[in-house]
Amino acid sequence: MTDETEAELTGATSRRRPKASVDKVGDRKLKPSTMMMGHGYDPVLSEGSLKPPIFLTSTFVFPSAAAGKRHFEGVTGKRPGGADGLVYSRFNGPNQEILEDRLGIWEGAEDALAFSSGMSAIATLFLSMVKPGDTIVHSGPLYAATETLIARILGRFGVHWLDFPAGATREEIDAVLSKAASGNVALIYLESPANPTNALVDVEAVAASRDAIFKGAKPPIAIDNTFLGPLWAQPLRQGADIVVYSLTKYAGGHSDLVAGGVLGSKEHINTIRLMRNTIGTICDPNTAWMLLRSLETLELRMSRAGENAVKVCEFLRTHPKVEHVGYLGFLEEGSRQADIYKRHCTGAGSTFSLYLKGGEKEAFAFLDALKIAKLAVSLGGTETLASHPAGMTHLSVPEARKQALGITDNLVRISIGVEDADDLISDFEEALKAV
Ligand SMILES: *Cc1c(COP(=O)(O)O)cnc(C)c1O
Repeated sequence: MTDETEAELTGATSRRRPKASVDKVGDRKLKPSTMMMGHGYDPVLSEGSLKPPIFLTSTFVFPSAAAGKRHFEGVTGKRPGGADGLVYSRFNGPNQEILEDRLGIWEGAEDALAFSSGMSAIATLFLSMVKPGDTIVHSGPLYAATETLIARILGRFGVHWLDFPAGATREEIDAVLSKAASGNVALIYLESPANPTNALVDVEAVAASRDAIFKGAKPPIAIDNTFLGPLWAQPLRQGADIVVYSLTKYAGGHSDLVAGGVLGSKEHINTIRLMRNTIGTICDPNTAWMLLRSLETLELRMSRAGENAVKVCEFLRTHPKVEHVGYLGFLEEGSRQADIYKRHCTGAGSTFSLYLKGGEKEAFAFLDALKIAKLAVSLGGTETLASHPAGMTHLSVPEARKQALGITDNLVRISIGVEDADDLISDFEEALKAV
């Protein structure tokens, strides 16, 4: 199809023009951090505006009846790949499409979708893949709301689940997948590192096990990459098919929005897009615009936070009032977890577990004495946050399960931001004096 006939069919409302994608200079393939400034957006379509305007509209005007029909063929799945042009803001919009183009770049994904929250992304993924009687096999523990969604909500609709511990070996994964394979496994769902245990999932082993056990149709492997992605882990390269994000965390990075993302092959994304089109879990244009701004500094922010975390953890691990620091940079050389880390990760992240000597009293004294770090749940923002999982995020988890997961009263979860590292160390040093 020529550019002109394409333009005629898709209409002037489409921002999809060939010029909007510079991914090479000479022979050099551009890096994601470079492409975050311009990819997917052509200023000519918006009065020369350097930055994309926020498109506040609920619907888009078709240039012709034929173009409208063609767009709806995409929206309803009659033709795969979504609409060629812009239709209605529950399906797509310029800000969301630019965001999706840029999100996919980090992990070399074929396609991506933006959502109103991490949980709406995960829920839409599940709804698009499972039916009554199916089984979801997952690593454990998962983000609490994801566990609730699988066990309690999908459970009400006749969906079963089976899990294996995040740090499981190939043999342990084989055993669970073989057992599940007697039924219909719709999806294998992973989260790595697991929160708050920090255990990494061996995605390569899960993919090898899946390929060995399922001879015919293979269930896709989806993974929540919120904690390390996209800078420090890119699980599509280890055999995952679909990657899920809470963009609220590192990708948004300023603790000022809630959003989610899903990345993967066009085939899987098309399936998930149809569900999103039906139920309307897309993010709004303003949030998409804020995320475009955030992605421009993603590498800067994550790099700085990662460097800060190394320094802070080095300080904390030798402090006399600290029992243990659960940080991916401190994995025991030669251990299975260190082996997974080497094969799967390029950095240890900036979120870790701090176990103080003592219990809740000591943990609370420390938290209440912090001056720079704020007491809040969430992670991946520019500011350092600290929380008490046993008394906050995991308060309703039964005692035995808390013990099994290492959620003890002396545990403090910390997400390091982009402040000055020595200022942060002073803050922790002073707060430890209050313990
Ligand atoms: C925060 C989080 C979610 C949920 O994301 P929301 O944006 O809060 O809906 C899912 N998974 C992980 C690992 C998270 O940290």
